[in-house]
Amino acid sequence: TMQAQWNAVDDYFCQQLVPQDAALEAALADSAAAGLPAINVAPNQGKFLNLLARIHGARRILEIGTLGGYSTIWLARALPENGRLVTLEYEPRHVEVAAANLARAGVAGQVDIIPGAAADSLQRLIDDGAPPFDLVFIDADKPNNPVYLELALRLSRPGTVIVGDNVARQGEVANPANPDPAIVGTRRFIELMGSHPRLSATAIQTVGGKGYDGFALAIVEG
Ligand code: SAM
Repeated sequence: TMQAQWNAVDDYFCQQLVPQDAALEAALADSAAAGLPAINVAPNQGKFLNLLARIHGARRILEIGTLGGYSTIWLARALPENGRLVTLEYEPRHVEVAAANLARAGVAGQVDIIPGAAADSLQRLIDDGAPPFDLVFIDADKPNNPVYLELALRLSRPGTVIVGDNVARQGEVANPANPDPAIVGTRRFIELMGSHPRLSATAIQTVGGKGYDGFALAIVEG
């Protein structure tokens, strides 16, 4: 099947390009043991995020959707010593598991996990006058993606990079008749990225161990 082939290629890429890492593997193992869903990014995607943050020289990273902190570890490791990552998570159990995973990975000192609904946390960051972020990774509840994009823009500067995960959704993103709130939210997200005067954006379809999906990438222009 196609999926078997995609898995084999992901396995090969990960073997050759993504060295085994005890803290990342323990983060996944403990997340699974705690009953968290295995909806983290794949290892080669995590490394992609890490490389993107390093290419960009990101010093302040915002993540929306922590889960067990797997992508958080990849992104935090891209930071310089004085860098900071803020990650937003609704589920208290996920916050707890992520905190332990981040501590074991040695990045807890650079990461603030803010518990609660991400839209509320983002509004609080705006109200508190948080300095702009260099990179934003949006990976939480997909129906809220347009809300997160608007709020993230208020925490951005010209040059801020915004990444949105899971935008192809087995191709259903191209189906305007699909009433699934995740599809509707993803379509609004893409359309907002395309029409927003402050954004220049693209989206790329992907296949791999996580199936057929994709990500959107934007830069803030003004
Ligand atoms: N970025 C993680 C990774 O790759 O390791 C995966 C994140 S998972 C796809 C989405 C997370 O968003 C879940 O942990 C879920 O509890 C969280 N979430 C869902 N709705 C939320 C909300 N309204 N505010 C904050 N987090 C939310």
